[in-house]
Amino acid sequence: MIEIRDLRFAYGSGFALSVPVLDVAARERVAVVGPSGAGKTTLLNLVSGIAVPDAGRVTLDGRAISALPDRARRAARAASVGFVFQEFALVDYLSAEENVLYPYRVGTGLALDKEARARARALLAEFGLGEKTRRRPAQLSQGERQRVAIARALVTRPKVILADEATGNLDPANKAAALDLLFAQAAETGAALLCVTHDHELLPRFDRVIDFADLGGTA
Ligand code: ADP
Ligand code: ADP
Repeated sequence: MIEIRDLRFAYGSGFALSVPVLDVAARERVAVVGPSGAGKTTLLNLVSGIAVPDAGRVTLDGRAISALPDRARRAARAASVGFVFQEFALVDYLSAEENVLYPYRVGTGLALDKEARARARALLAEFGLGEKTRRRPAQLSQGERQRVAIARALVTRPKVILADEATGNLDPANKAAALDLLFAQAAETGAALLCVTHDHELLPRFDRVIDFADLGGTA
């Protein structure tokens, strides 16, 4: 589902990343670990098409996303990728439900129809937020915000789910619960899951753990 070949990317600052090969199959749950500053977030940005590699290729669900022009890449990302951001990146002035529906609002061509709204509400209900769909992020606890961010990453039934420290700021019970929700939904839709994490106690639950340094690491 995710195929990376000969990926190279450098910031103007001089940091450079090189990943010769990384594959994640449909239904596979892969964790990526490594020290801060190693390039894990950069890797997720490249996989999702948020960033474009200097060389090499990222293929998602058979499509070479890294080769697409900006607009097409954005549309492909919206159609194929769900992203749980490190700091959740919820929109302050939108309700929980509107935050979950946000992927439909960013020029992606996906229809924000009754079915999408029903799916957003069903996810929030399943995540224990059925009574809180109209609250804004400031009116939710940290764990609740986290669940909104996860629901947003799942609402389009993406084939690829990327999570950047998705459980980082949570207490142990909420960490485990957040991973349960992510895994259950990924199993239902058959998605490939690639999670950057520092939570070593959660690693045994993944099918595979990749140490960033072993990927080919940083140049
Ligand atoms: P990690 O997620 O493993 O902590 P990052 O991918 O965030 O690592 O960052 C890798 C390196 O790239 C760091 O040295 C960071 O300072 C640098 N970096 C990250 N984002 C940018 C940027 N937008 N411009 C320049 N350098 C960046
Ligand atoms: P936590 O113990 O996880 O930090 P909080 O103390 O932040 O949780 O919140 C506890 C409960 O109060 C949560 O269910 C949350 O939805 C609710 N809550 C928090 N802040 C507000 C607010 N500003 N308005 C309404 N409800 C809130």
